[in-house]
Amino acid sequence: MAAYSFVDHTYDVLVIGAGGAGLRATLGMGAAGFKTACVTKVFPTRSHTVAAQGGISASLGNMSEDDWRWHMYDTVKGSDWLGDQDAIEYMCREAVPAVYELEHFGVPFSRTDDGRIYQRPFGGHMRNFGEAPVQRACAAADRTGHAILHTLYQQCLKHDAEFFVEYFAIDLIMDPDGACRGAVAINLDDGSLHRFRAHLTVLATGGYGRAYFSATSAHTCTGDGHGLVTRAGLPLQDMEFVQFHPTGIYGSGCLITEGARGEGGYLTNSTGERFMERYAPTAKDLASRDVVSRAMTVEIREGRGVGKDKDYIHLHLEHLGAETLELRLPGITETARIFAGVDVTREPIPVLPTVHYNMGGVPTNIHTEVLRPTESDPDAVCPGLMAIGEVACVSVHGANRLGTNSLLDLVVFGRAAGLRAAATLKPATAHRPLPKDAGDLATSRLDRVRNANGGHRTAQIRLALQRAMQNDAAVFRTAATLREGCRKIDEAYDSFADLRIDDRSLIWNSDLIEALELANLLDCAKTTIYSAEARSESRGAHAREDFPTRDDVGWMKHTLAWVDAKGKVALGYRPVHAYTLTKDVEYIKPKARVY
Ligand SMILES: Cc1cc2nc3c(=O)[nH]c(=O)nc-3n(C[C@H](O)[C@H](O)[C@H](O)COP(=O)(O)OP(=O)(O)OC[C@H]3O[C@@H](n4cnc5c(N)ncnc54)[C@H](O)[C@@H]3O)c2cc1C
Repeated sequence: MAAYSFVDHTYDVLVIGAGGAGLRATLGMGAAGFKTACVTKVFPTRSHTVAAQGGISASLGNMSEDDWRWHMYDTVKGSDWLGDQDAIEYMCREAVPAVYELEHFGVPFSRTDDGRIYQRPFGGHMRNFGEAPVQRACAAADRTGHAILHTLYQQCLKHDAEFFVEYFAIDLIMDPDGACRGAVAINLDDGSLHRFRAHLTVLATGGYGRAYFSATSAHTCTGDGHGLVTRAGLPLQDMEFVQFHPTGIYGSGCLITEGARGEGGYLTNSTGERFMERYAPTAKDLASRDVVSRAMTVEIREGRGVGKDKDYIHLHLEHLGAETLELRLPGITETARIFAGVDVTREPIPVLPTVHYNMGGVPTNIHTEVLRPTESDPDAVCPGLMAIGEVACVSVHGANRLGTNSLLDLVVFGRAAGLRAAATLKPATAHRPLPKDAGDLATSRLDRVRNANGGHRTAQIRLALQRAMQNDAAVFRTAATLREGCRKIDEAYDSFADLRIDDRSLIWNSDLIEALELANLLDCAKTTIYSAEARSESRGAHAREDFPTRDDVGWMKHTLAWVDAKGKVALGYRPVHAYTLTKDVEYIKPKARVY
């Protein structure tokens, strides 16, 4: 093995990731007086959060009456009763102060005529416990994530957080007693290795959309935090729940926000029919995403798709008029022109359900502490480790996330991480020495991958993985497709042992760094497909044609999935929290989910 030496750093808190979640946590940690490092593989304002378009939900009631209890009800229903209701109560309640806090930080929200934050309708957000759509999505035109991310970054700078930009975290440092003590990262600028020691490590590394062939997510969304966790022997939760957004542009997969339908856009099939009226009589085009994506897939399957090959659906915005499009949806107007060659003021956009969000991830409690569930204690905690944002599964989204609830999740739980740290840790607490071999596991793995001299290239394995996920862990699933998927993912996984690396440099964009990302994607794919194969029911985004109904007796439980060093997946389960956080609301009992 080549000799690697470390540059050592010591902090109270280490945050890995500088998207909305990581920045909100970094800001809170700094404000609480903690010496905080934020390590990020891309420049903070290039994190995928920057691409969020439609909005962030909060029952401000600026456009018409609203209530956080209605928001909670919609979120529980959207989650198809897999979400933990204590966490959902916390998030929906905190939404209102969280959005006002963003406003005070300086987020340039769009405004109503009387100067309040503009809110638009979004899928699954309803008034009075499911009666009719409500305007709950707080928006900065169709560039809400951009506005939030830039504002949070400025706030972080104000609080003296130290940023390590283009540093790529490759493994956690774990104590023999199971506590997390920090992480090892590569400086992608010069290839040096860094060991960050911290009392608390916060994972905020985002999702793993790039496990699929066509996704709205950035190429950097490679599930790195998920990989750090599986390699530390901890489980991932509810990985079978992958959200397909109804309106990715046909071909490129670029997102057209649900806010487009919120502003009055609608879908049609080849006969020009507004088919959503048949599938969701009340909410129509604004039903939950899983519902709309399935309806579109059925239309295409039954021969009513649009185009030469009848393989897409039309999204109409022409009737909204150039002025509204310019004011409310300028970003997607441009996206449609560039990526579909469409002038939205005159013609419909060709769209298709596209992978968009991962409901599953690293299990945590509402304080963002990562769980290491045991038989006797399904809520046991792994000391020293937190997770927030898309990498985490707290679980507020359950089996299907409502649009605008992710940006909300980022800021509410990013803030919660700082509050928990302040309640459990004193700034400048002395550090125990690190274990003697701290970082050795990371470097020996790095060395193995770096010197791989086999027959399979990174791009080739990645393509096999993405194709298998796209075909076999799709909108609709059956035992046959999922078993085939398990086989193909195993094959891709095993071919990684026969990897070939030509460019061995430890810098940005090298073959080696992409191979390390691929290793993380492989763990994400394994846990997704095996968890999906095991769940013999349909719930939220997990639609089994062979088990078309929800089975609350057998399956109202969270899946846990561990991956061992050989790539073998072990599954377990933990109960869904069937209780609320306070007495202010009652547990919402499961019922049929119609829109
Ligand atoms: C196109 C698009 C539009 C969306 N629109 C909306 C919307 O309108 N409303 C809504 O609520 N949600 C929306 N979502 C979902 C939401 O934007 C994401 O779920 C959310 O932004 C994820 O934020 P995050 O902070 O968890 O991660 P990200 O923003 O993805 O950031 C991840 C961070 O982790 C860092 N990182 C990753 N791996 C490593 C590593 N190994 N080492 C160091 N750093 C690492 C990256 O550098 C980055 O800073 C949208 C998503 C997409 C893709």
